Amino acid sequence: MDFTLDDTQRQLQTTMRRFVDNEVIPVASEYEHADAYPDPMVKQMAEMGLFGCILPTEYGGGGLDYVSYAIICEELSRGWMSLAGVLNSHLMMALMTCWYGTEVQKQTYVPAFATGERRGGLMLTEANAGSDAAAMQTTAIRQGDVYIVNGSKMFITNAERGNTFMLLAKTDPTRQPQHRGISAFLLDKSRPGFRVGRRIKKLGYKGLRTCEVILEDCQIPRDCLIGEEGRGFRYVLSALEVGRINIAARGVGMARAAFEDSIRYAQQREQFGQPIANFQAIQFKLADMATTIEAARLLTFQAAAKKDRGERCDLEAGMAKLFASEMCEKAASEGIQIHGGYGYTEEFAVERYYRDAKLLTVGEGTSEVQRQVIARRLLELYAI
Ligand SMILES: Cc1cc2nc3c(=O)[nH]c(=O)nc-3n(C[C@H](O)[C@H](O)[C@H](O)COP(=O)(O)OP(=O)(O)OC[C@H]3O[C@@H](n4cnc5c(N)ncnc54)[C@H](O)[C@@H]3O)c2cc1C
Repeated sequence: MDFTLDDTQRQLQTTMRRFVDNEVIPVASEYEHADAYPDPMVKQMAEMGLFGCILPTEYGGGGLDYVSYAIICEELSRGWMSLAGVLNSHLMMALMTCWYGTEVQKQTYVPAFATGERRGGLMLTEANAGSDAAAMQTTAIRQGDVYIVNGSKMFITNAERGNTFMLLAKTDPTRQPQHRGISAFLLDKSRPGFRVGRRIKKLGYKGLRTCEVILEDCQIPRDCLIGEEGRGFRYVLSALEVGRINIAARGVGMARAAFEDSIRYAQQREQFGQPIANFQAIQFKLADMATTIEAARLLTFQAAAKKDRGERCDLEAGMAKLFASEMCEKAASEGIQIHGGYGYTEEFAVERYYRDAKLLTVGEGTSEVQRQVIARRLLELYAI
């Protein structure tokens, strides 16, 4: 794989590969099976500047481009997908602050986001508002200098370990279309009325907690509103482009892990007196895995490069996310197949890739929603 990475990106790739080989792969399965939060790895990620990697340097960030971010997410996910999940919604929150926040908000929050001292995520989804996020029922009603927030959020990544969140809530609950009544707020977990609820048990994506969050008469100061009232949904859609690059890169990284484990195993495992890698049926699986991984990586880098040029990239990010997530699901399944019965056991990491891969076709917009986003944009571009 080459794309057209520059020296800095290549160097970053080498650094990330070394970190993942030395610090993540040897312990990932142990943490995952214990469903333990990866404290030591997260600490190292903070020291490496990953929590601020794509944030502007004037606010303490690393100033990296989105192609570099894709490299980081791919490499982390090759080791353990949950680590890329620690960064994802945290950086979406931080980017929304950088793009739409006031100067005071940027100076107050972004340097702390960059070091990881302030960490958190995005509070968009609700129990009855997933794909149809604009149907959310959480309200933020202004009373003088505060907004009073009531409602609950579902599936919130980093809810337990995070301390700051980007909340989406309705400031104008009767407004139609609904998304125009939604605003975005920086929300400190320490505010009275903020409660982390049920920890949701999951198929994979272990280590990270995914929780409900309940907001009861939670007061948010007016100066925590991001940008303008009623524009929060638009802001989150821009951040989702970066979120989808993260998910696509996760798919590439995890599929690569499945491929690399499988090609090694196929040359070691003997049946019928020879390595199973000699069988064409196995070779074809490996060939398909490697080919589709390359294709997914190119789509991901292309979307990231477009975002780097400051261009709209919802189409490219949607395509990359859709293709990479479905490719990863297939690659993880083939990884198990190549490992035979052993692939179905906890003795090999492919069973983890298989469980984790499924999330990628659901989170950050399901495959069905992704196809809608792609088709809608194509119809705009090809309108007759
Ligand atoms: C582990 C995990 C972590 C998450 N982390 C976060 C987080 O940090 N913050 C956050 O805000 N959210 C988070 N989410 C929520 C995630 O983004 C949603 O689960 C996702 O958007 C899908 O919403 P839903 O689960 O309500 O599914 P639904 O919207 O109920 O969808 C169910 C099915 O119906 C299909 N469907 C829905 N509408 C249509 C349509 N119009 N046409 C065709 N098919 C349709 C879907 O594609 C899907 O197959 C997380 C989810 C998970 C599982």
